[in-house]
Amino acid sequence: MADKYVYFFGDGKAEGKGDMKNLLGGKGANLAEMTAIGLPVPAGFTITTEVCTEFYKNNRNYPAALKGQVAENLARVEKLMGKTFGDAKNPLLVSVRSGARASMPGMMDTVLNLGLNDTTVQGVIAQSGDERFAYDSYRRFIQMYSNVVLDLDGDILEHILEQMKEKRGVHQDTQLTAADLKELVGLFKQQVKSELGRDFPEDPEEQLWGAIGAVFGSWMNPRAITYRKLNNIPAEWGTAVNVQSMVFGNMGDDCATGVAFTRDPATGENYFYGEFLVNAQGEDVVAGIRTPQPINKAGGDGTLPSMEEVMPECYGQLVKIRAILEQHYRDMQDIEFTIEKGKLFMLQTRTGKRTARAAVKVAIDMAAEGLISEKEAVLRVEPSQLDQLLHPSLDPAVKKEVIAKGLPASPGAAGGEVVFSADDAENAAKIGRKVILVRVETSPEDIHGMHAAQGILTARGGMTSHAAVVARGMGKCCVSGCGDIKVDYRAQTFTAKDGTVIKKGDIITLDGTTGEVIKGAVPTVQPELSGDFGTLMTWVDQIRRLKVRTNADTPHDAKVARQFGAEGIGLCRTEHMFFEGERIMAVREMILAADLEGRKNALAKILPMQKGDFLGLFREMKGLPVTIRLLDPPLHEFLPHTDKEIEELAAVMKVTTAILKNKAEFLHEFNPMLGHRGCRLGITFPEIYDMQVQAIMEAACELIKNEGYQIVPEIMIPLVAEVKELAVLKANAIRVADEVIGRYGVKVEYLIGTMIELPRAALTADKIAEEAEFFSFGTNDLTQTTYGLSRDDAGKFLPFYVEKELFPVDPFVALDQEGVGQLVKMGCEKGRATRPDIKLGICGEHGGEPSSVIFCHQIGLDYVSCSPFRVPIARLAAAHAVLKEK
Ligand code: ADP
Ligand code: MG
Ligand code: MG
Repeated sequence: MADKYVYFFGDGKAEGKGDMKNLLGGKGANLAEMTAIGLPVPAGFTITTEVCTEFYKNNRNYPAALKGQVAENLARVEKLMGKTFGDAKNPLLVSVRSGARASMPGMMDTVLNLGLNDTTVQGVIAQSGDERFAYDSYRRFIQMYSNVVLDLDGDILEHILEQMKEKRGVHQDTQLTAADLKELVGLFKQQVKSELGRDFPEDPEEQLWGAIGAVFGSWMNPRAITYRKLNNIPAEWGTAVNVQSMVFGNMGDDCATGVAFTRDPATGENYFYGEFLVNAQGEDVVAGIRTPQPINKAGGDGTLPSMEEVMPECYGQLVKIRAILEQHYRDMQDIEFTIEKGKLFMLQTRTGKRTARAAVKVAIDMAAEGLISEKEAVLRVEPSQLDQLLHPSLDPAVKKEVIAKGLPASPGAAGGEVVFSADDAENAAKIGRKVILVRVETSPEDIHGMHAAQGILTARGGMTSHAAVVARGMGKCCVSGCGDIKVDYRAQTFTAKDGTVIKKGDIITLDGTTGEVIKGAVPTVQPELSGDFGTLMTWVDQIRRLKVRTNADTPHDAKVARQFGAEGIGLCRTEHMFFEGERIMAVREMILAADLEGRKNALAKILPMQKGDFLGLFREMKGLPVTIRLLDPPLHEFLPHTDKEIEELAAVMKVTTAILKNKAEFLHEFNPMLGHRGCRLGITFPEIYDMQVQAIMEAACELIKNEGYQIVPEIMIPLVAEVKELAVLKANAIRVADEVIGRYGVKVEYLIGTMIELPRAALTADKIAEEAEFFSFGTNDLTQTTYGLSRDDAGKFLPFYVEKELFPVDPFVALDQEGVGQLVKMGCEKGRATRPDIKLGICGEHGGEPSSVIFCHQIGLDYVSCSPFRVPIARLAAAHAVLKEK
């Protein structure tokens, strides 16, 4: 590692740069960058992430040279500010701020006003001539430091503050006098001593190193670890520490602090969105202590004066900075600023988190503004984020009982049972219940519950509150700052303004787009796919090479998938058709028939229904390729379970229930996943596949002959392990298909291929390709058989494996590229070696998962196939795969 541990920024010059996020963390890199482009940033320095890594490597010891470098840089700050750290007459105060590469709730909270003690506070009074301000800063410092560095429960000192306000008969912190605050400082210190058994540290040097140590220490706290796990952030990254000279938003009514987004983070609208508070400091705005005011007239509802009105000059300056930042970073920014005595300072900028809707709008708008290219616009939208846009919203036609309204913090709609704690949310979700997490406000400790919930409702906090920011990041519906509700944790209820009481377990629905809280469940409608979304997808389709098909078993699914841009069906599971309505009876008759004759009779009943299914699918797909898989699951899956069902069936089949039960018993399997299924059924009961092939070909021929369709059916034989299985079944299929074609007297092409879903098939793909005209990698089964684990039984251990990082992710969610992926790759290579024009695709959940789609592109598949809702995600991921190619 380098021997430079500390990077200075101030007075228009910075040692660091914006692209040094790995070393300086996001916050530090951007403070350096803002300083360098001439924005007003209070001077300070950043201790690198490498120090954090070293710290943990060396048993929590700092590199030897660190002390000296910190002292040197502190001296530079002192010189620039004309103040001295710890000085009795003119003390420098600093903030100590954590800052990892990626912004990370769960890390140590910032400590402000560090350097204050009973001596230096006198210096602050002398310099500012404002005793109230000095003691307000001092009491805040003790509160923050005790909580985040000394680990004292924050409520303890907060309670003393509340008591003081009560005693004085005031509601706001700002109403306390200098004498009150001075008294508070004394009380706080006493309390710290009695709680912790030692004095609050008076020595500024000790305070500084205490805070630096706490930032590095917080990298390994449970909250931070959880957050890293959820967001795939490696522990090796480490965090940086920023030490920065203080600017004060709490020096009176010409002071303020605020946060803003350069565009609306919920809608993406190109307007300056932000909130601020006069005479306030640090996180007052987001903590919901007072109701924040909008930064401009357009942003508020007119009840509170905006910054544009009360501080027009500073607002004007901020508007200019907004433009500079967007031009410089070429993306929407999330900023923090403070105004000290009418002078504006920038304290942070970072790429703003946004909803999927906003991501799409900002990308399209910025491309139109010439700020970014179309390709960059495509890269600006995360494939997985699209999910938010593709899911339904509340049906506007349905009458809703709106009981409260809050801020539309994160769009979408969600319904579920009300719970009041993160743990309850997590426990309910574990057993498959859908919940809405209701809190007064959320904090980083609630992350696991927010993750488990369908939606989040908070009584306090603005659009930039913790709940709002985190929910938007997770793509979860959130209504925040809902002052219309009173939450009572003890009674486990909340009461709406109209008096409605909602208890734990009651169902509510949230509309994150309007901020409405609705009693009961509300049905939803499909999303809008035109407009900006449509434009983006046009660009996506021009870029990508991988085709995207869908897994669809019904004409309805096929239709939805077509609207989402599917270019064919990659997997139609015919067994799903077997379950419907009266056909299940015929299917059971077929399975339980005593002999071939009986089976053929039953199959004859099923034939017209299957043909009808295929007619529907072919019509819906209008000539696009359709791959139909012949029957795959073991037969006992179709058998009746209850006595009543068995009796009914016995009556139809004119046999005794005992005979049926016997037969069902006989079909029982110990390990159905590896049992009598797939092509093994076709081998032992050829008449089943014959019927299916006949249905497929008759449907195709009819449409070609009578309606002028162009169809090339793709008949897929599942679970082949050995080429001879395929050879036999292919010969059968050709015999039936050609018979049908002859009967109709039309010219029809068709393909016969197989699913590669067993390791042996992948290993012998060169042989299998002698028969197969296409391969579709069935990665669900291939994952099961490669790992030797059954997905249906994995629930008991797989989450544990993922939790303990034995598996980086659930291999059923993202394709295991190292193992299963190798088989897929090998299958492709061997298949192409035998048959260069063989069509290659994948079906299975992985076909709609972005990292897997990118892998499929890289190994040269022709297409992926996924569920209808994931088609746009796969299209976008396929475009990203091209753009990230190097
Ligand atoms: P977070 O990562 O949680 O946003 P920050 O380090 O940005 O934490 O700081 C928390 C709050 O303190 C922010 O509102 C920030 O603007 C404010 N703050 C940080 N440093 C200073 C400073 N030197 N002077 C004034 N306010 C500061
Ligand atoms: Mg914070
Ligand atoms: Mg911040």
